[in-house]
Amino acid sequence: MANHAPDNSRRRFIKLTAVGLAAAPFANALLSGTARAADMVSETDPQAAALGYVADATKATKRTDATALCSNCSFYTGKAGEASGPCAIFQGKLVHANGWCTAWAKKAA
Ligand code: SF4
Repeated sequence: MANHAPDNSRRRFIKLTAVGLAAAPFANALLSGTARAADMVSETDPQAAALGYVADATKATKRTDATALCSNCSFYTGKAGEASGPCAIFQGKLVHANGWCTAWAKKAA
């Protein structure tokens, strides 16, 4: 009966190896997903185009408030002073702090 110990150990090794091999493709997907999360919103992205998003607010033709920027928008969650940050409208992507779109809403003081 004590001879079963090596069998159990080998089975465990085989199981762990199989789990590791099965998980490898997903690990790669998770890593690339993280990289994608830091992608900048492109002005040509369909959602961005629909909202008139521009990386440089001074080039926005529909902007009526000259002080309106992504950095002072209520949807912007980037850190002060950084060039870009996340926007709740564009989930998983970053917008330029000096950008703007028609969804702009003044951040509460
Ligand atoms: S919703 Fe606000 S932070 Fe997001 S892109 Fe438009 S202006 Fe910028």
